[in-house]
Amino acid sequence: LVQITGVHKSYGEHEVLHGITLTVQPGQVVALLGPSGSGKSTLLRAINHLETIDRGEITIDGEFIGYEQRGDRLIELPEKRVLERRTRVGMVFQNFNLFPHLTALENIAEAPIALKRAGKAQATARARELLARVGLADRGGHYPRQLSGGQQQRVAIARALALDPDVLLFDEPTSALDPELVGEVLQVIRDLARGGTTLIIVTHEIGFAAEVADHVVFLDGGRIVEQGPPERVLRDPEHARTQEFLDWVI
Ligand code: ATP
Ligand code: MG
Repeated sequence: LVQITGVHKSYGEHEVLHGITLTVQPGQVVALLGPSGSGKSTLLRAINHLETIDRGEITIDGEFIGYEQRGDRLIELPEKRVLERRTRVGMVFQNFNLFPHLTALENIAEAPIALKRAGKAQATARARELLARVGLADRGGHYPRQLSGGQQQRVAIARALALDPDVLLFDEPTSALDPELVGEVLQVIRDLARGGTTLIIVTHEIGFAAEVADHVVFLDGGRIVEQGPPERVLRDPEHARTQEFLDWVI
């Protein structure tokens, strides 16, 4: 479903992704782990073309998000066409990134309405369903500032689901939360994983990764150092760097 092939990315002189190749199957839950600065966010952002890449290819179900093939070259698409294709991918950020001036329901219904996928009534009805799914049926009229961090993040997940994406990306979805609010957000992600949604999750919650992921990828210095089933990568890593990282986070 998500095919990442030979991806390189530099900021100026500094190459932060050194040839990443990774395949994510439909329904698979992939946990992306690695130390700070290893390139996890950059890779995630490249998947939905919030970052350009310098070399290699990323496709979702065979389609580029931000590029078009012309001869043997990839040409970056104009923003308008990127927005349409980007709806294949939902993204949830560390800091929720809800629209502060919109209610929970309006936050969720905004994209389907703006992209003319649904009328206002239909988008709002669907937003209600999604809010119920993340356990917030009674919070539709609340503004983000009237919600706890955990509730805001659950609204952000509902919003990411509103366009029925093929894959959902999570960038440290619980690391900005007070410890007592982490569980409710992990529970929503766990339900999505069990329901067969394709997920790529950057997280430092190793226990959670072990529980929900089908596949764990360990990134260090812009390279995939090790990948495989969680029971192997997390319990019996082959590489010293992976072990050091695990010792450090646990
Ligand atoms: P963390 O765990 O701290 O979130 P990360 O694995 O997500 O780290 P990235 O944010 O992908 O790491 O950053 C990878 C490298 O790229 C880092 O060295 C970072 O300083 C650099 N970098 C990221 N974004 C930019 C940018 N916009 N301009 C220049 N350098 C950047
Ligand atoms: Mg990051």
